[in-house]
Amino acid sequence: MTRDEIVRKKQEYLFNCVATYFKDPLVIDHAKGQYVWDSDGKQYLDFLGGIVTISVGHSNAKVTEKIKAQIDKVQHTSTLFITEALVSLAEKVASLGPGKLKKCYFTNSGTEANEVAVLTARMYTGNYEVLALRHGYSGHSHLTKSLTGLHTWRKAGVISCGIVHAPGPYCYRCPYGLTYPSCNLHCAKDIEDVIKTSTSGQIAGLLAETIQGLGGFIVPPPGYFKIVANIVRNYGGLFIADEVQTAWGRTGRKWWGIEHWEVEPDIITSAKSMANGVPIGLTLTRPEIADAYKGLTISTFGGNPVTCVAAKSTIDLIEEECLMDNAETVGNHFRAGLEVLRDKHQIIGDVRGMGLMQGIELVKDRKTKEPAPDLTNQLLERARAHGLLVGKGGLYANVIRMSPPLNISKGDVDAALGTLDKSLAEVATK
Ligand code: PMP
Repeated sequence: MTRDEIVRKKQEYLFNCVATYFKDPLVIDHAKGQYVWDSDGKQYLDFLGGIVTISVGHSNAKVTEKIKAQIDKVQHTSTLFITEALVSLAEKVASLGPGKLKKCYFTNSGTEANEVAVLTARMYTGNYEVLALRHGYSGHSHLTKSLTGLHTWRKAGVISCGIVHAPGPYCYRCPYGLTYPSCNLHCAKDIEDVIKTSTSGQIAGLLAETIQGLGGFIVPPPGYFKIVANIVRNYGGLFIADEVQTAWGRTGRKWWGIEHWEVEPDIITSAKSMANGVPIGLTLTRPEIADAYKGLTISTFGGNPVTCVAAKSTIDLIEEECLMDNAETVGNHFRAGLEVLRDKHQIIGDVRGMGLMQGIELVKDRKTKEPAPDLTNQLLERARAHGLLVGKGGLYANVIRMSPPLNISKGDVDAALGTLDKSLAEVATK
């Protein structure tokens, strides 16, 4: 098919709500390592990493060889039967899970992982109400749209009841008009008032991303989660850390993002980078919480042997090649470069992130912090024209999100920084 045919068929046969980037959608033909190529043969440096998904590089031979071998052995079983691939992955995840988190429930996506987490928390605690944070994103199902704190991703007709949103830890635009650290972490402490005023006082839990991804890589301040987890537990709830974007070394040095806040969650959910792009969802918790899930359940594709092999070989590779450390070293280099760009380009209002999850928030004016969604779109387009793919996010659609594969080099980062610099200059003078 020609490129135009592919684009036309997308419009004709797929839901419009499944949105694409760019005025002229990018048709990807193939990918390898940190690069993707479009249908015209143009090469791009992939600094979104799929969508925070490609942890060890596109089509990594060490992963795909194992996937191919498993396809030839047995491709599907369903959860009614057990395979070595399934238990090997579960054992590996349990060995890495923080503290006592040892039991896995595998599904196909982050959305399902969060669904399972909330259902499990409700069954374990006997409570129904759940807290979520403003600016959070939890998925595309009915329940997870309801947990989401971004209006653009919440349009689903009737939204589930029993979910309450608390203001989030968005320091650059503090909802209380305070500044860290003199704020004394008011946003964390205020969760108690939210529970006391907007719930029955007995909650099933709070679900929060360790770093808010679609919300624009919002990094909670140090100490935030310790206070929040304590409050949630005092009101009968479980602390659920959504690590769909932040797990598997992405934030540098640690397997799980939440470890940087020195808190052991009751439940962790993950997906994305876990299997380097093969669809997977994980809900991980302590045995007594897992075993409180009563009644029969089945996931036709959850724990699929091919998926499990993909995940296990991805995780093994991250471990063998110390990619968590690379994410920290190369991530720090990236961060330093982005800060230089902030000094140079007035439209960068904020630089934030951890490891190889870095974002820049674009504003029209640094004093008023007026969001600049148009400039953000232009930057995305300019970067594409120069062969660099980056992502977008934020309530105001004004944050550039970057999450390249964990095995990139400082040279890749320098190339990306050079392109960003050039693209920022073009946008600012337009
Ligand atoms: N939680 C977070 C933090 C996410 O970023 C996403 C996906 N962007 C999801 C949940 C949902 O995952 P999926 O798209 O795999 O259903």
